[in-house]
Amino acid sequence: MSAHDLITINGRWGFDYTYFAGEAATRFFRELVENRRIMGSRCPACKRLLVPARSFCDACMERTTEWKEVGPEGTLETFTIITTAFPGLPAPPIVMAYVTLDGADTALINLVHGEDLSDIDRAAARLNALPRVKVKFVDEPKGRITDFSFELLKDVA
Ligand SMILES: [Zn+2]
Repeated sequence: MSAHDLITINGRWGFDYTYFAGEAATRFFRELVENRRIMGSRCPACKRLLVPARSFCDACMERTTEWKEVGPEGTLETFTIITTAFPGLPAPPIVMAYVTLDGADTALINLVHGEDLSDIDRAAARLNALPRVKVKFVDEPKGRITDFSFELLKDVA
């Protein structure tokens, strides 16, 4: 090892924390629990409906105004099939995807259910067709992103 070789140092972060979700995220998560609906907020300048709802447009830096429900159906935009276990995620293999819900101008990431993952390559080929999906809520929402996931619509190949 020379003096110029970089070294790696193993470490582990494990801490609990609480953060202020902010005005838009607070309402977004409350809508999941109280009304089982997914809401976006509209930028008054570029008119895009941003999902999940946020206080400011990331393109115009304008404060968003109007709130509007999106979905419950949408189109898969891109995905990954996770084959390694991660803390906090269901047992692999799982599909994680960005979906643009009907009426939205931005995509939202969450789990996708309904794909046969026994053959990963075949599943990826089917998902590459960017199928339609539908939002499915859990029985008891808690105001978290895990309150819903996406289900493949069966009438799409
Ligand atoms: Zn904008």
